[in-house]
Amino acid sequence: MIADPIDGPEGQALWDRADRVLPGGGVYLSRSADLAGRGVLPGFIVAADGCRVTDADGRTYIDLLCANGPNLLGYQHHEVEDAARRQAATMTSASMYPSALVEIVERLVERDDTMTWGIVSKNGSEVVALSLRVARQHTQRPLVVGFTSAYHGNDPELAVSPSAGVLADGTSDVLRTAWNDPDALFTLVETHHDEIAAILLNPIHQIPRAPTLDASPEFVAALELARDRYGMQLIVDDVRHGFRLHPEGSHRTLGIVPDMLTLGKALGNGYSISALLGRGHVRQAARRILYTSTYMFETPPMHAAMKVLEIYDRDQGFDHLQAVGRRLRSGILAAAQSTGHRIDYSGPLAMPTLLFADDDDLTKGRRFSREAAGLGAILHPVLNWFLSTAHTEADIDETIAIAEEAFRRTPTSR
Ligand code: PMP
Repeated sequence: MIADPIDGPEGQALWDRADRVLPGGGVYLSRSADLAGRGVLPGFIVAADGCRVTDADGRTYIDLLCANGPNLLGYQHHEVEDAARRQAATMTSASMYPSALVEIVERLVERDDTMTWGIVSKNGSEVVALSLRVARQHTQRPLVVGFTSAYHGNDPELAVSPSAGVLADGTSDVLRTAWNDPDALFTLVETHHDEIAAILLNPIHQIPRAPTLDASPEFVAALELARDRYGMQLIVDDVRHGFRLHPEGSHRTLGIVPDMLTLGKALGNGYSISALLGRGHVRQAARRILYTSTYMFETPPMHAAMKVLEIYDRDQGFDHLQAVGRRLRSGILAAAQSTGHRIDYSGPLAMPTLLFADDDDLTKGRRFSREAAGLGAILHPVLNWFLSTAHTEADIDETIAIAEEAFRRTPTSR
């Protein structure tokens, strides 16, 4: 807990209640304000509209966290809300396939001519875990290659580091190796070539408290060689980055045609929907898997997602994200420079990460974020930020002005 928490009396009271009934710790970590440090960012949000959120004490903030990704078009986007509400008034889910299931998968595969089938689910974690099952069924091999510290959801075998509740060998079928190290990757691949079903990767290496790294051409070449030589399936996990790196899927920036692609977060703009898309050769393997659950068939999220795709394409959402991202980047860099701060501002324009130099214990990062929150902006000190198409140039300019003042109030030395 910092000395001067941002939460007001209502927020503090909710924390007291939460601490009594929620386990805390790692549970819900990415959505817990504790990840930033208790009191640095508001703990509880009660309303959201456009690019602004309101906390339990009625304070409103420009939000650069976007619900950790989903808010692509703005909270409460009226067309998305209308589509979901209209559908909810007709049917939520019923006894057999809803027609919307076919429609949303058709839309998704139409957008990417390398993908021929899709499975819709609720969260990113589920479709990533499912992709591994498909790859294992297809190749009849047990192992998966992943990259150091890369997050892929809550499936126990994908736990990033030794994690409570995952026994000693629970993650041993996932071999982790360093991002952008083609030699290490290829050594691993050659050593286990007849046991590796898939290589699971994010389109960029973006992990908390570290600068973002793109994939080097040599690394991409090693991934493709692993597939060509040994039949390993390449799975691009686009749950986090989807729609913000490239309008047709982040694999386009990587220059890879994946065998499977996972989507989630931004696809529903706040409605619970995720998808696994695959190429033709793995469809037979997918068919063999028993995969279903009660609320997968909820139709309002499917209608919301179809509307999201329509609006994003119609309004050139990607171009807007690039433009405001570029404006934010240059404004933040100038503000840091004029206030004497050395920062590392990395990552794609719509998903930047701000880290202070010489700030291993996050003293500066937390102070900056607390000051920015006090001035009315949520700028996370640990996670990357997200932009939405609801962020206007005026919102970005306001954010930059807040950041400049927050930099000024953050000591340059410790
Ligand atoms: N993959 C990646 C790359 C993610 O960032 C996340 C969530 N942050 C997931 C998978 C899991 O998605 P969800 O939280 O929707 O289960």
